[in-house]
Amino acid sequence: MTAAVDRRTDLMRALGGLAGDIVIDDPGIVAAYRRDESRFTEAGMPFAVLTPRSTDEVAACLRACHELRVPVVTRGAGSGLSGGANAVSDGVVLSLHRMNAILAIDPVERLAVAQPGVVTGELRAAVAAQGLLYPPDPGSVAFCTLGGNVATGAGGMCCVKYGVTGDFVEALEVVLADGRVLRTGTRTVKGVAGYDLTGLLVGSEGTLGVITEITVRLVPAPGPAATLVASFADLAAAGSAVAAITAAGVSCSAVEILDRTTLRAVDAHAKMGLGEAAAMLLEARRLALPALERLGDWLLDDVCVPRAEVVALIEAVERVAAETGLTIGVFGHAGDGNLHPPIIFDRGDADSVAAATAAFDAVTAAALALGGTITGEHGVGRLKATWLTRELDPVNASIQRELRRTFDPRAILNPGVVL
Ligand SMILES: Cc1cc2nc3c(=O)[nH]c(=O)nc-3n(C[C@H](O)[C@H](O)[C@H](O)COP(=O)(O)OP(=O)(O)OC[C@H]3O[C@@H](n4cnc5c(N)ncnc54)[C@H](O)[C@@H]3O)c2cc1C
Repeated sequence: MTAAVDRRTDLMRALGGLAGDIVIDDPGIVAAYRRDESRFTEAGMPFAVLTPRSTDEVAACLRACHELRVPVVTRGAGSGLSGGANAVSDGVVLSLHRMNAILAIDPVERLAVAQPGVVTGELRAAVAAQGLLYPPDPGSVAFCTLGGNVATGAGGMCCVKYGVTGDFVEALEVVLADGRVLRTGTRTVKGVAGYDLTGLLVGSEGTLGVITEITVRLVPAPGPAATLVASFADLAAAGSAVAAITAAGVSCSAVEILDRTTLRAVDAHAKMGLGEAAAMLLEARRLALPALERLGDWLLDDVCVPRAEVVALIEAVERVAAETGLTIGVFGHAGDGNLHPPIIFDRGDADSVAAATAAFDAVTAAALALGGTITGEHGVGRLKATWLTRELDPVNASIQRELRRTFDPRAILNPGVVL
């Protein structure tokens, strides 16, 4: 406790006149910033939350933390599912919710410039008013932030047609761990000067710097969508249909899958009468997680396999469910091969918790064995930090560690996240 008080005093001193405007140290409020939406991830108690309003203020925060070697966990909306925004004890949370302005929408260049705290759905609505589309649409679109999306490399439902967040990021402004401000990318349609630092920072999960301004590419808004709902006798048949759609060269905006467990949970939760109402499909998909929450505690996996292996992954999930005796649903972005099997368990029962952990590991291992990846869109965070080296070859892992040291030599940014 004394150490925390000393750290807070030192930080307040280092921030000078700025401290009164941006530091929250009321323990009750600070506690609300401790963790994101993940399960089974560690979270410490930060001694303060910093709420900067500008790039200059972010830089001042990082300079002070760098000098004092205070760990900094950057936070958008805290909707992450991998523990990437979980606080560390003796550190601070840097929340970007006050940097929430859309700075420009340029219909000629088809670009938008926004601060990181802008809610993704609000950016989509603002560009739609000008006949444009910002395609990335995570299920959390109504509350997650653009900064969080860039930092996690978020996906979403329409990625099967348009691509993921990273495919739309043209340029970034990033404050480095020592407070220097880095600008990457260009506003031009083409641009290959130097290494692609924009690409490196997308998906860096707050470990390489704090993103303070984002330039994204927009596309013309498409015409009205047609929606088709099909039901299948079993999941494997649904998986085969996904492969057939792709093989036929049909370009769908979204190809989503919900199994019987998930559909029943959504119907019980929202009383939507889903059999008949095709227009409600996307809404039903967005409700999958809150609805499953009502079945018990959940642990959500996020794995991605080659599209040809979707059926094999679904079969593996069913095998794991049978072996562990747990309910494991299947929903996700089937058209991308990106599934989110939710493992339902009882946190009050040690055997159930152990079974859930074993099931999570078995599903993740199955995806790797099928030539897939441990995370399609939620990020490594803390949840899968021990898994990353099982996916990367040793040279890749060591280059990634060196890169991290180059950006953050004092290791103050999101310690324990990624690797
Ligand atoms: C119901 C629900 C549905 C979801 N659906 C999807 C989905 O379809 N697709 C998908 O990809 N994800 C989904 N998610 C997960 C989550 O919404 C995404 O990972 C999202 O990108 C996180 O954004 P955030 O603003 O909440 O970031 P946070 O959770 O606050 O942070 C996420 C990570 O980014 C870092 N970070 C945040 N802002 C910055 C910044 N400005 N600079 C540097 N680092 C930063 C944090 O340190 C952390 O490591 C869902 C979550 C929920 C709860």
